[in-house]
Amino acid sequence: MRLTTIAEHPESVQRIDQQTLFHIDFEWWDLREDEYRTYLYNLLCDKHQEEFGYVDDRKHKLFDWVNPQTGEVFSIDSIEYAVRSHCSSQEGYITEGTAMVDSVFRALLANGNQPLTIKQLASCIGRVGQESTILRMLRGSKVYKGLRPL
Ligand SMILES: [Zn+2]
Repeated sequence: MRLTTIAEHPESVQRIDQQTLFHIDFEWWDLREDEYRTYLYNLLCDKHQEEFGYVDDRKHKLFDWVNPQTGEVFSIDSIEYAVRSHCSSQEGYITEGTAMVDSVFRALLANGNQPLTIKQLASCIGRVGQESTILRMLRGSKVYKGLRPL
């Protein structure tokens, strides 16, 4: 067997720049389902955390979620639904103290995972001027919270 190098497959090297759109890759999360549910649970507001109670309840219901921009309908579970429709608009959902990677995830989730550029992300998470830091985080070889270029 022979190792192939990146140079032999230039098409596999993705160009990432200011125009690149980023989104949450839910396929990445599919492999980490338990982790995802715990992570999502932590995005709930106090009221909803109480309502959903035990995080490991697998009998969650599916809801239809209509993307307001495209009209596309998705099935999402009840926790995700609560985050998008309520908790994400509560104060404290994204704060200055929220880790950058979490802020990016929260912003994307709240907007129905509409892919955004680095510039748009920076503005969504209140970090205008820190675009290069966000870009560095998102284009690294490690994938954080399923955040990937489109
Ligand atoms: Zn809530």
